[in-house]
Amino acid sequence: MRNPVAMITGASRGIGRGIAIELARHGYDIIGTATRLTPEDRERGLFEVRERVDEFGVRFVPLAGDIGETADRNRLVEEAFAAFGHVDLLVNNAGVGLLQRLDILETTEESFDRLIRINLKGPFFLTQAIANRMIGQVKAGTSYVPAIVFITSISSNTASPNRAEYCVSKAGLSMAAQTFAVRLAEFGINVYDVRPGIIATDMTAPVTEKYDKLIAEGVLLQKRWGTPEDVGKAVAGLAKGYFQYSTGAVIEVGGGFSVLRL
Ligand code: NDP
Repeated sequence: MRNPVAMITGASRGIGRGIAIELARHGYDIIGTATRLTPEDRERGLFEVRERVDEFGVRFVPLAGDIGETADRNRLVEEAFAAFGHVDLLVNNAGVGLLQRLDILETTEESFDRLIRINLKGPFFLTQAIANRMIGQVKAGTSYVPAIVFITSISSNTASPNRAEYCVSKAGLSMAAQTFAVRLAEFGINVYDVRPGIIATDMTAPVTEKYDKLIAEGVLLQKRWGTPEDVGKAVAGLAKGYFQYSTGAVIEVGGGFSVLRL
């Protein structure tokens, strides 16, 4: 029997890389995307994923493109299906933070458009394209029931006025997860919303001190930074089918961030 295939956007670094490695550990062939494949990326980026993935004896296909650009996105879909003929798991992970944190009273339309284009429009239409193909796989009879994971954020329902457009993009992405869950249920395609908390990656490196302090002061129940591996393990649990009766579920990987306390 063939291996299941996972397509992970933004697999070159951080959380996406952690997800790629955990899924490879569980026998998935991996399609990993990044914005570009420069010689430097080949040395320390996606190809570092390749080295780890090779350890597990699965196949790895790196693809390059900006998910916020229609032409790139369409090409990524074509190349992904050309590589293996099917995608059994789509993980919408690629995303960006703000170039500059500005107060909601000051922030710019340019920044808003950038965040919405990459964090919301890109994964929305990538999912639309892949979901249509997954429906075809289901109708044709498939070895693996397809599933889709959105990597959103605790920012989907936590308001930060100095990065409002990020929060808005993630809240929108969480609604995309819900809506695709509704639409795809009749085909047996489960859709999940995974919300990471404070995870140590390039994205959070510039605000290390701020979060070190918040964690020390008790903002999380589990007093440590999250790791890409923490998120990867959660996605692997979903991929393995242990949450079969939970389409539309929101899974926080945030060290207890959202537990209300008194
Ligand atoms: P990183 O900045 O470490 O990595 C981002 C990844 O996304 C890279 O692989 C990058 O590719 C890719 N990417 C960025 N822009 C685009 C684009 N336009 N098209 C295609 N790929 C793109 O981020 P994280 O690992 O921290 O974040 C991953 C996801 O998790 C994001 O959606 C983020 O919002 C979310 N998240 C992160 C949290 C955290 O604390 N770190 C918390 C909650 C959610 P390249 O290497 O080519 O730039």
